Amino acid sequence: IRFSDLGLSENVLKAVKSLGYETPTPVQAQAIPLVLKGSDLCAAAATGTGKTAAFLLPTMSRLPRARKGGGPRMLVVTPTRELAQQIGDVCFAISRSTRHFQCTVYGGTKYGPQITKLKRGVDILIATPGRLNDLRERGVVNLRDIDVLVIDEADRMLDMGFWPSMESIIAETPTTRQTLLFSATLDRKVMRSVAPILRNPATVEV
Ligand code: AMP
Repeated sequence: IRFSDLGLSENVLKAVKSLGYETPTPVQAQAIPLVLKGSDLCAAAATGTGKTAAFLLPTMSRLPRARKGGGPRMLVVTPTRELAQQIGDVCFAISRSTRHFQCTVYGGTKYGPQITKLKRGVDILIATPGRLNDLRERGVVNLRDIDVLVIDEADRMLDMGFWPSMESIIAETPTTRQTLLFSATLDRKVMRSVAPILRNPATVEV
């Protein structure tokens, strides 16, 4: 299977080339067509499987560019600063082709630059739950225009005690959103927490 067979936009295919990816990994081959169809997704995939591109390529393929000063249309929530930075780097590389505005926010850094960027308007927001909730409380970001919500490493989010923050984040997003969930494991404990937020999800296991 080739990236060009999956239904991705021309701009995203250009980005794939510049990233140097030649063939889709199994999670990419399975997830990309489902995400392009608009389906919710529940994916069992660990770090190293190519899961970041599995959610960024198809979502960025479909995501329109927002007007200036608008709130984010796509939100990626991930448990750690390192993961947020890694996702932000890939997103930045793809956005060179798709021209989306993106912003990555996490704790342990100054609020100022993050707030300035958010006020200018972003299409895609990548965040850790704590910092995102701080910024929501400060009134700098609202999630009412979110069309796509990605929850990355859901099992770690649960283990680290971030699920209550996650639930308050989810509650502000429209119920009509597309939700994509990634977790290293989809055991009973994980499924009990995540099942209520997914609508007829397609399941992908690699
Ligand atoms: P991830 O699972 O998203 O953390 O990705 C793991 C690593 O695989 C990253 O360093 C990516 O750059 C790389 N990668 C992702 N997709 C592909 C692909 N289709 N071909 C080659 N490398 C890839």
